[in-house]
Amino acid sequence: MHFPEKSPRPSIYYKYQVFDPWLASEHAPQSRQVVTIVGAGPAGLVTALELARFGVQSVVLNSELQVSQGSRAIVFTRRSMEILQQVGVADQVLENGLPWRFGNSYYRGQRVFRMEAPQDEDDRYPPMTNIQQQYLEEYLLHACQANPLIELRWGNKVVGVQQHTDFANVQVDTPEGPYQLETQWLIAADGGRSEIRSAMGLKLEGASYEGFFVIADIKIDLPYPTERLAFFDPDWNRGNTILMHREPHGIWRIDYQLPPGETPEQALEPASLKERINAQLAMIGHAGIPWEMDWSSVYSARTLTLPDYQHGRTLFVGDAAHLLPIFGVRGANTAFQDAQSLGWHLAMVCKGIASEKLLRNFSTERVTAVREIITESGKSTRFMAPPSRGFRLLRDAVLSLSLTQAFVRPLYHWRTSRPHEYTHSVLNSPDDDNALFESGPSHGAPPQNVRLSNGDFLLDHLGGGFDLLYFVGAYSTSAKNTKAFDTHQLKSIPPELLSVIRVFKNKDLPIRVIAIGTSRSAEGADLQIEDPMGRVKSRYGITKSGGAYLLRPDQHICARWLQLDAMRLHSTLQAVLDQ
Ligand SMILES: Cc1cc2nc3c(=O)[nH]c(=O)nc-3n(C[C@H](O)[C@H](O)[C@H](O)COP(=O)(O)OP(=O)(O)OC[C@H]3O[C@@H](n4cnc5c(N)ncnc54)[C@H](O)[C@@H]3O)c2cc1C
Repeated sequence: MHFPEKSPRPSIYYKYQVFDPWLASEHAPQSRQVVTIVGAGPAGLVTALELARFGVQSVVLNSELQVSQGSRAIVFTRRSMEILQQVGVADQVLENGLPWRFGNSYYRGQRVFRMEAPQDEDDRYPPMTNIQQQYLEEYLLHACQANPLIELRWGNKVVGVQQHTDFANVQVDTPEGPYQLETQWLIAADGGRSEIRSAMGLKLEGASYEGFFVIADIKIDLPYPTERLAFFDPDWNRGNTILMHREPHGIWRIDYQLPPGETPEQALEPASLKERINAQLAMIGHAGIPWEMDWSSVYSARTLTLPDYQHGRTLFVGDAAHLLPIFGVRGANTAFQDAQSLGWHLAMVCKGIASEKLLRNFSTERVTAVREIITESGKSTRFMAPPSRGFRLLRDAVLSLSLTQAFVRPLYHWRTSRPHEYTHSVLNSPDDDNALFESGPSHGAPPQNVRLSNGDFLLDHLGGGFDLLYFVGAYSTSAKNTKAFDTHQLKSIPPELLSVIRVFKNKDLPIRVIAIGTSRSAEGADLQIEDPMGRVKSRYGITKSGGAYLLRPDQHICARWLQLDAMRLHSTLQAVLDQ
């Protein structure tokens, strides 16, 4: 029998809610589930919410009775916020989190590099927002609880899986004993120690770096803005690196590297933690300020992935699929992208709109993305914690040169998590005008946000299905002198394009036509976005009315045309269904 912890986890700032376990004896026998998600972490919860947006039901099993222990992932990128906006929790994160965009690297007491993450008026969200993972999970849980298509089962631990041709049989252990569950699709979102991965005998590929880092969250009043602080080779921890981040509720995260040979157990001894945190505070000129420990843990950097995220009826997302170093804030930020991607691919299959072959695309795209992330994060990891004498010599040379030579300082850049561009996706249209565009997001890229004339943002209106952004050019005379559209104005969506859209709507493909550019009604559009000054148009590199972009449900670009015609639209949409 599985007995999850019933006492709330300890925390200075977060009040853990303990949920009642879901017991089979209290529910009527159930038929085969469509989707079962194992794990109520960021990956599992976002997948459930994404599926629900397409009308697909899911059951979420979680072995625990409460959200995760400790702050864990604390830095969320702009792209993550855009994904969280899609599932309805970005406002809460923004309201309660701490936005930031600068990072500072120090060596020998001197600031040698100041990183500035870009931000302009077209960005709805800051480049980074700090909030503890418990809050994020709480907001996602509330969204799931409010959704009738999602059933949460607390205290349900998956202990075995048998796969069959068209379903999986899942053994679930609970406080009253085990039960069986059948499901058409099983999503393994059960974290870094995924029991499903182990039970299936699947091996992660990649590198594990030597050396450990301590994560310590302390409550302290420090007079610094929310910026990333990195200290290389400080006097109290020679050869190693220390990171500091401000979190909400007066908490500071201090990450420090351990000297070789020290074990995690030794490092987590209260006396050792106290001595090192005091040394760090003294180094930054705040010795003696009172502080209190909230949570501490030890981690080591790993760049590991499964080579395939689909195994029969089981699909892997988040830490169950890959383990990434926290330098560059990649764990949860990558999990959101996995979940968003799996959500729409699987929904199309569950609803019978596309064949199961479409899931191959999910796996290929996400494995490729994670391999790119691994290459990038490997560079950051080797700089933060050099794995060999050679890397250390090189890194130390950069450190000492940086005191006097500005040209080496950009090497301190920490290569933050960013969305992958699915440049080689099979969903990208082979016969569109992608190569002819001079600007704008290209094949496979995430969309560019744009502030609209009414104060909204473009992405507020996109997502949840395929979006055809169709640029029309009926402009008012007051816009004549702007860089708005050509004068050969197309005021409505051509009927032949609308016929193609109707064909695919009749096949249940979720697709909308969004007319951009006119302040008047563009007949046939599902939605109209006013762009009187041509800002969206110029950001998207559109030169004439009749130009168009096709965005996938995850908002990535799969086709763009300088001049769209019905035949090319048809072949692009058909290609998605033919996968
Ligand atoms: C100690 C620690 C510190 C971290 N610090 C950072 C950081 O500073 N920055 C950063 O970006 N990332 C950090 N991470 C990584 C980050 O937390 C993860 O990348 C992120 O949580 C991934 O989300 P996930 O949903 O894939 O997995 P998880 O959040 O691990 O969620 C897995 C879920 O599965 C459930 N589960 C597990 N096994 C079973 C089972 N058999 N049956 C049912 N349910 C099960 C668990 O209860 C949990 O709800 C840290 C992780 C850890 C462990």
